[in-house]
Amino acid sequence: MDDAATAPDPHVTPITPTAPVAAVTHGGRAKCLQRLVRLEMPLPRTVALSFDTVHGIAAGRMPDIAALVAGFHAGALLCVRPSSGDPDWGGPGAILNIGMNEARCRALAPRLGEAAARALYLRFVESYAVHVARLDPDSFEGRDATHPDALAAALAAYEDEAEEPFPQDPVVQLSEVLRSMARAWEGTTARLLRQARGAPADAGLGLVVQEMALGLGPGECGSGVLQLVDPETGLPQITGRYLSQSQGREALEHGLASLYLGRDPRGPSLEELAPQAFEDLKRHAARMRERLREEMQIEFTIEDGGVHILDGIRVPRSARAGLRIAVRLAEDGVISRAEAVMRIEPRAVSELLHRQVAPGAPRAVIGRGVAASPGAASGRIVFTAADAQASAARDEPCILVRRETTPEDIRGMHAAAAVLTERGGMTSHAAVIGRGLGLPCVVGASRIRFHFKRRQIVDTEGRVFREGDVITVDGTTGEILAGSPAMVEAALDDAFTTLMDWADAARDIDIRANADTPADAQTARNFAAQGIGLCRTEHMFFEADRLTPMREMIFADSPADRQEALALLLPMQRGDFVELFRIMEGMPVCIRLFDPPLHEFLPSDRAGLRDLAEALDMAVSDVTRRVEAMGEYNPMLGLRGVRLGITVPEIYDMQARAIFEATLEASRDGAPVVPEIMLPLVSARREVELVRARIDAVAAAVRTERGRDFTYRLGVMVETPRACLRAGDIAQHVHFLSFGTNDLTQMTYGLSRDDAGRFMQAYVAEGVFSEDPFHVLDHEGVGELVSIGAERARRAKPGITLSICGEHGGNPESIAFCRAAGMDYVSCSPFRVPVARLAAAQLAI
Ligand code: PEP
Ligand code: MG
Repeated sequence: MDDAATAPDPHVTPITPTAPVAAVTHGGRAKCLQRLVRLEMPLPRTVALSFDTVHGIAAGRMPDIAALVAGFHAGALLCVRPSSGDPDWGGPGAILNIGMNEARCRALAPRLGEAAARALYLRFVESYAVHVARLDPDSFEGRDATHPDALAAALAAYEDEAEEPFPQDPVVQLSEVLRSMARAWEGTTARLLRQARGAPADAGLGLVVQEMALGLGPGECGSGVLQLVDPETGLPQITGRYLSQSQGREALEHGLASLYLGRDPRGPSLEELAPQAFEDLKRHAARMRERLREEMQIEFTIEDGGVHILDGIRVPRSARAGLRIAVRLAEDGVISRAEAVMRIEPRAVSELLHRQVAPGAPRAVIGRGVAASPGAASGRIVFTAADAQASAARDEPCILVRRETTPEDIRGMHAAAAVLTERGGMTSHAAVIGRGLGLPCVVGASRIRFHFKRRQIVDTEGRVFREGDVITVDGTTGEILAGSPAMVEAALDDAFTTLMDWADAARDIDIRANADTPADAQTARNFAAQGIGLCRTEHMFFEADRLTPMREMIFADSPADRQEALALLLPMQRGDFVELFRIMEGMPVCIRLFDPPLHEFLPSDRAGLRDLAEALDMAVSDVTRRVEAMGEYNPMLGLRGVRLGITVPEIYDMQARAIFEATLEASRDGAPVVPEIMLPLVSARREVELVRARIDAVAAAVRTERGRDFTYRLGVMVETPRACLRAGDIAQHVHFLSFGTNDLTQMTYGLSRDDAGRFMQAYVAEGVFSEDPFHVLDHEGVGELVSIGAERARRAKPGITLSICGEHGGNPESIAFCRAAGMDYVSCSPFRVPVARLAAAQLAI
């Protein structure tokens, strides 16, 4: 089969260095095989059939198969393998030994031995019967190939079921194999399966027909696979499998690991059996790595000591190995640093930051919900925050299961290994706190039935899991699993750091972190965030020693009483800010003033009300009445954010003072601090004017008292649709605007962020929403409001700083939107900072 004999037909193309073979017309395998031919690898003769040809075959238009067969060596056995656009899309399995018949069997016997020749024939009859003639597999599988009558019995069974003798003509055999593979690809099941894996509806299948190197016979013969890296770690190590006297991927299936010296106690290694072949394979693999610019797995056959390379595929790899492979390829100069950065899927990075369920581990799924915070953890079920703390005190990992979490659960969440809630969506309390703490979390697991009184959960099959039973929360996939599957640890190694450094060099948008506590801020620094983009100060008030003065402040009858309670809180807040400023060492820190409705700080159960009555020296009935009076029908749309700042201004005054005093203190012994103060839930310019006047007054007072100067930057959180529309007006009074896309999404859709989890899965499944809009920014609706806001703000005040601090700040698609809208930075949970750094770098490359 030389070039001259073959050139013209682009659809049935012998693979030569110059043949018109492309991945888009013939599939990835065909293209890769051509690359191997160009590298002069010892490849058996191979012909590629294009997508069009295979589609034609399925429709009954068979090309000239006799001519195709004639192109190979006379009497050669052939194999056919699929070549689609992406190996992940699946496809029919390979069929080997086409051309085997009575005559070939007799002809091969002297060389291979009678038994081996018959075994080859038997294997072909079996696979042809099942996969091509579609006969009953029970009649053809599990026969003992060494039995002298096995072949005759299989041929008889074939004739019996197919009502015709087994075809002897290689042309007929090959035609039927091609027809069955082409039709299998076009079948409905196969189509739906590959579409679920991301294949386009019209994805084509190419086929490659290859002359077989047998792997059987005299001298050292066999088959195997080899690669130069460990697929789990990506570290350089020759790994693979080899099995003497075998064909195809048998070596893999039979699990023999005898590649090189000292590796396998069960028998001699390939290195001992065929040292030259082993050397050749290593050389070929190294060459492929360099020329194909990728770590490749070689599928090979050895015939009488000589190497044949049948195929080369990208080494299948874990997320961790993928990253190390990319970095090593760049360090060796095989690819550029930019290409290494581009090769890593940002989401894969988030896998590296957390413990995960081991990729191959069995998963006993008992339910699903929103994958709210990545990573996986196993532990005993507990139903209250107090039990979670008790469990932690016993050093026993636990899973905190709640209907939804509230600020009162914070300590329990800290103590738990993971959190599971019945309700909630991507921006519900449990989700936001879970991501902040790096705690695996699944929310809105609405298909599991939660019985909080009986202290059990029940899955759809009626299986009951009680308090104390061990389950696993997989916050990466959103699955809840029974028991504790094997895990892989987080992998923040040198390769990770190197790749992140390269990403930062390419990036053109800043990445900050949402950090509320010193621990968050430290995590943010560890992940190289460029500042804090959102510090939600209310989280600081849930500490046990602060809750009582906080409640006293809420219950105060007069401004004077309120001042008294706030005076207790002031030094604590100042201490918080000093610590944050010190950890961030002069980087920007954006502090959002108090945001939530006050009643979130009040107890809701009897015991809590009694405790509060005791602490305040009031009657329980009075406390209960006061708590009830503060209730609101729609607290998220009620008295919160800047509305509190205007109606109960003492809180913001206290916070502003704490910030300014901390600024002076932290600037004394470190880099000068310029704090950023942000007002939440603004919808009108006048709100900003009123609050700004008071904050300026506090700043002036602190300057005078301390006799020292400082500056600060004031900003507004744009999280109501009206603030977007009036951004031009608002911008004139502030240094920066930060889009709070959690509330903005909630308000644009009129969709409660805490209840969305109940129906989000159904909405996405029905295609109402293409994605959960609390997870991926809705470009069309919410995005339009953001664009309008950004444009009006810029027009009114050209130098204004713009950013996003909703949870979308850590989502790659949303980062692309923000960058295109000209934002200066995005801010996201500390554990998402590396994902954001990589995603942003890829946008700039
Ligand atoms: C927002 O609304 O987008 C936001 C960041 O604030 P929070 O989640 O605290 O409401
Ligand atoms: Mg908000």
